[in-house]
Amino acid sequence: MCIFCKIVNNEIPSNVVLENKKFLAFQDINPKAPTHILIIPKVHVESFNEVEPKIMKKMTKFIQDVTKKASIEQSGYRLITNIGEDGGQEVKHLHFHLLGGAKLAWPDLIDTSAKIDTATKNDAVQKSNPHTKKKVKK
Ligand code: 5GP
Ligand code: ZN
Repeated sequence: MCIFCKIVNNEIPSNVVLENKKFLAFQDINPKAPTHILIIPKVHVESFNEVEPKIMKKMTKFIQDVTKKASIEQSGYRLITNIGEDGGQEVKHLHFHLLGGAKLAWPDLIDTSAKIDTATKNDAVQKSNPHTKKKVKK
């Protein structure tokens, strides 16, 4: 059973923010912002790749309710779901990170320490950094 299924089953404790029959919102154990809440379906779904649209329909409303409960719906927030290897998904149970409570940075997201071949890495770094972009001669 995955770690988030254990949280749903109360086998692992969590700080619950909001809950209903189908969804659970709880505090991330390693917060990256003043508000960092994880929102999951109680049913085990591996990632956004596998989720049925009918679950997302209900989950959308639940996420909106969580933003209100956390009082960040007016100040703004970021909603992130990591998927698979390149997405950096560590827990293989669909979850949305709800981040807010402060002005959030929008960092360069390419992980240059990742084990990708050098040519791809150099290309990615160059494309991502406006200072290294080659000037086109006219
Ligand atoms: P991912 O990298 O899969 O998108 O995010 C997994 C998130 O789950 C991370 O932000 C991590 O801090 C959080 N997390 C991992 N284990 C636990 C746990 O046992 N309890 C809680 N509350 N959060 C966890
Ligand atoms: Zn699970």
